[in-house]
Amino acid sequence: MARGKKFIFVPGPTNVPERILRAMAVEQEDPRRPDAPAFNLPLLAGLKNIFRTKTGTSFIFPSSGTGGWEAALVNCLDTGDHVLACRFGQFSLLWCKMAEDHQLQTTILDEEWGAPANPDRIYAALNEDRSHSIKAVFVVHNETTTGVTSDIAAVRRAMDAAQHPALLFVDGVSSIGSIDFRMDEWGVDLAITGSQKGFMLPAGLSFVGVSEKAMAIVRGRAEGQKNSRHAPHSYFDFNAMLARNVEGYFPYTFPTPLLYGLREALAMIEEEGLDNVIARHQFLASGVRAAVAAWGLKLCAQSHACESNTISAVMVPDGIDGTKIAHRAYNRYNCSLGLGLNRLAGKLFRIGHLGELNEMMVMVALSASEMAMLDCGVKITPGSGLAAAINHFRTKA
Ligand SMILES: *Cc1c(COP(=O)(O)O)cnc(C)c1O
Repeated sequence: MARGKKFIFVPGPTNVPERILRAMAVEQEDPRRPDAPAFNLPLLAGLKNIFRTKTGTSFIFPSSGTGGWEAALVNCLDTGDHVLACRFGQFSLLWCKMAEDHQLQTTILDEEWGAPANPDRIYAALNEDRSHSIKAVFVVHNETTTGVTSDIAAVRRAMDAAQHPALLFVDGVSSIGSIDFRMDEWGVDLAITGSQKGFMLPAGLSFVGVSEKAMAIVRGRAEGQKNSRHAPHSYFDFNAMLARNVEGYFPYTFPTPLLYGLREALAMIEEEGLDNVIARHQFLASGVRAAVAAWGLKLCAQSHACESNTISAVMVPDGIDGTKIAHRAYNRYNCSLGLGLNRLAGKLFRIGHLGELNEMMVMVALSASEMAMLDCGVKITPGSGLAAAINHFRTKA
């Protein structure tokens, strides 16, 4: 491996800023120390701001994002419950699989990989469900494997139009803290995210936002539930977690260094301002898209309206292997790009543009992409994508 910095532009884990690295260089602390609540409680409050919820409850679990999925699922659904899930990429596929692993009766709305969730189909499915057997709707806000963002506000409107009481579960792992997300306004009941994407931290924490409506179900279980059906669970129990959280503690040992990192990440987002963070992602993503257009290539996202501001999946021409491009970028240029997964394997490569990111960092990702594509025989004009990005980035004073 060559000397110099190793660059990472996969869509998570993302770059960890030096400020956060320094903040995390701490020893593990006594979890029962008297001043732990003064440290822990602002973290839970800060997360609520990122979820954009005033009435909801935020939880932290020591797990990757997948654990957040499981926490949301086991606390609010019963074994055998009927759920409606949209599937249009590898993450939504894995979430559906988890639902099936938990013996939920899962009705899947398949879309093309590259398309977003379809609110009309959600409306139709809910409208047909007169007996309200469907207990939850699952939508991945930002499908990281295709670079597609779904319209959660439109999903909520569809659910309301069908006058259906199902809970709305949203995976916001690669959107929350980077792309506009409004838990209260959009009536999201379970919002799930993780530490290693927009939060600029290493993997290891999942964050779950829970609406009042969902918390009422969770609380009911704690009270009279001896004979009630519920998905068996223990480690991820919201009630056990909440019982300690209200005092400012956690029910088991948390990784202190990651919590210090989280405190720093929340401070950085607050200093920049969440709206500005979101605007920065949009501006930088537009630069990437300008480059892709200048290369004469297409994104996996099927329409401009659903293009993601945190990740671009670049379709490669027929006869070219996108995986080879990503491997070339890594082996020759020290730069990690994302691969095509599952049915998209080889058909694309992905540029992650979220978290700790500025124009010059995007230029690195675009340079590595261009050079690796040229090395792998893609017929693009050297510098074409870079020039387009330069022109875009210079539009800002
Ligand atoms: C990264 C990611 C996850 C969670 O993955 P983990 O590896 O478990 O952290 C879930 N959903 C989406 C959309 C993601 O991008």
